[in-house]
Amino acid sequence: MVQRNPKIKALRTHYLFPEINKKKQEFLRRSPDAQLISLGIGDTTYPLPKSIANQLSLYGAGMSTLEGYSGYGPEQGNAGLRHLIASRFYPGLAEANEIFVSDGTKCDIGRLQVLFGSSATIAVQDPTYPVYVDTAVALGQGEAQQEATGCYGNIVYMPCTSSNSFFPDLEALPRTDLIYFCSPNNPTGAVATHEQLARLIRFAKKNRSVVIFDAAYSAYIQDKTLPRSIYEIDGAREVAIELGSFSKMAGFTGLRLGWSVFPKELRFEGGESISTDWNRIHTTFFNGASNIVQAAGAAVLEEEGWMAIKKMVEYYQENALLLTHLCQENEWQFYGGVHAPYLWVEFPGRDSWEVFDELLEQAHLVTTPGSGFGPSGNGFIRLSAFGLRETVETAVQRGKKDSSRTSLRW
Ligand code: PLP
Repeated sequence: MVQRNPKIKALRTHYLFPEINKKKQEFLRRSPDAQLISLGIGDTTYPLPKSIANQLSLYGAGMSTLEGYSGYGPEQGNAGLRHLIASRFYPGLAEANEIFVSDGTKCDIGRLQVLFGSSATIAVQDPTYPVYVDTAVALGQGEAQQEATGCYGNIVYMPCTSSNSFFPDLEALPRTDLIYFCSPNNPTGAVATHEQLARLIRFAKKNRSVVIFDAAYSAYIQDKTLPRSIYEIDGAREVAIELGSFSKMAGFTGLRLGWSVFPKELRFEGGESISTDWNRIHTTFFNGASNIVQAAGAAVLEEEGWMAIKKMVEYYQENALLLTHLCQENEWQFYGGVHAPYLWVEFPGRDSWEVFDELLEQAHLVTTPGSGFGPSGNGFIRLSAFGLRETVETAVQRGKKDSSRTSLRW
């Protein structure tokens, strides 16, 4: 028989969310009548606006006609959608032909690992969205796994804690080829300022590193003076790739649509174009996003759709505000929740899974343990604002009702 791929063996045995689900199922087997409230997984719940759903139906119905049928499209994405993305998100900052439409940011992250290869060194924020690390390990990095910390040997973790305002101490870091940076951040909810991102770009330039800027939550930035794209920073086009997603901005988690931006100025050490190689990888590993979904994506970026998805984002922002009340009610120290759909709640000296278990057992509340996002996440849990309003309101109500419970005051 074939040998198991050792790189897969090196992956952490349980991806965070399946582990949470397992605990949830075990709890429900013991307490079948419990009414669990999920503030855990970051999946969206708000229905699609009509103008966008109509576009899905229209395109789908057209597929049964000679005129409306379409097969393979350009792997880089339909020209109209690329133009719309460029004009909505990057006016004066990036061109349509620098945008590669995809089936979502997670998929792009995996393909990026193929682009740079298993010998590229990487740095990630700690805590971090787990996919940067897991895709790197699956392709051969960080084999020396340290189970106890969840840390991988040759992947540099950049601690982002309340003591450094969730922005890494760059001067203390070794050089890496790639630096993953997510703002607004999952899980901490922190958003980097102009000045911080300018420091990051200077650091990348000095080290001849490439920044992979994950802007999946940029729609949640409420303060117009905060940067939504890395290309708002001078010099970023020479050292940064940006990833964008329709998932959390427009409720496309199930439809699947995203994009990557590769500016022409981006070069490998030998002077070759990174964008040219990305085109090769993108077109080899991917055959283009669904035509139907791209049509709906275009409807998101047209005026009517754009207004409608603003309401969707506001709905989740209001949920986040309610969750801040829940934290205040319980005197929990929290971060985020303003420019991001996540609250990062601190339980000093506690183990994240222990807090997770306690909230599950005592309050029937499903959260996400911070340690699942990296060693610096221990002692935290993440609350997600992506639930339905009534779910969030019930959680807040439960927080109010019962102050007699144990250490968490539930
Ligand atoms: N990037 C970050 C930081 C995320 O939190 C997520 C999803 O939770 C993704 C990317 C995945 O986005 P997509 O649905 O476009 O694959």
